Amino acid sequence: MATIFTRIINGEIPCYKIAEDDRFFAFLDINPLMEGHTLVVPKQEVDYIFDLDDETLSGLILFSKKLAKAIREAIPCNRIGVAVIGLEVPHVHVHLVPMNSMGDVNFARPKLKFTPEEFSKTAEKIRSKVRL
Ligand code: 5GP
Repeated sequence: MATIFTRIINGEIPCYKIAEDDRFFAFLDINPLMEGHTLVVPKQEVDYIFDLDDETLSGLILFSKKLAKAIREAIPCNRIGVAVIGLEVPHVHVHLVPMNSMGDVNFARPKLKFTPEEFSKTAEKIRSKVRL
């Protein structure tokens, strides 16, 4: 069965999309740690990041780099934290989290709540800075 992220990529489940190319897809995490918390996913459905072939893994990092630059331009923050956890969804995803302090990337803390309008506005702010 397709993962939830494949279904998002295929447009079967809505998301606040940020960017995509032929191999990768980026969208806002629905339970964000910070405004602008973005997930970057390879379209190839693989569970564990270090099972990706070298070309896809390096492409994922380079795509994430472009997204991190856009997020940092759109959302005032010190830097973009990067995490790969993957315990919830068995489809590789890189978390890009705007951060100002260590606590901002504490995945154990309660997530933020935003309205659909706020999510849309955040996505638009980031999209306007993306240069693939
Ligand atoms: P992890 O697998 O890295 O532990 O966490 C999966 C992440 O995916 C979580 O931060 C969760 O909020 C996010 N997530 C799970 N389902 C959805 C979804 O349907 N839409 C979006 N945008 N994010 C999701």
